[in-house]
Amino acid sequence: MNIALIAHDKKKEDIIRFSKKYHSILSKHELFATGTTGMRIADEADLKVTRFQSGPLGGDQQIGAKIASEEMHMVVFFRDPLTAQPHEPDISALLRLCDVHQIPVATNQAMADIMIQALDHEDFDWKGIIEMNR
Ligand code: PGA
Repeated sequence: MNIALIAHDKKKEDIIRFSKKYHSILSKHELFATGTTGMRIADEADLKVTRFQSGPLGGDQQIGAKIASEEMHMVVFFRDPLTAQPHEPDISALLRLCDVHQIPVATNQAMADIMIQALDHEDFDWKGIIEMNR
């Protein structure tokens, strides 16, 4: 499964902790990330990550394009709800595309935990769930 990982600046530490905690699950999948998030996950959690541009420079849009072409299957997005983001339109567009294409997306750590743990269950039929809802 292709999984996108994104974290706003104040959530970077959280996504590093999350990536370390679920290293054994995440390492079974193809990981993608926005620039800075991806660099830190690769360096600090020792996971292989394909990096796009930094979020404010278009990284969210690049991930959105993958969703639109159905090449991204899950998005973990640790958003900072208390800080204005210069690229807010890109973030809204990304979340909208997740809804358009029935892509599971977690926008906070609690949902990300549930999603990743579900992924580790042998009977979690993510393809079936996505197809059923299209
Ligand atoms: P970054 O981008 O990983 O390059 O910091 C994330 C974002 O702010 O959308």
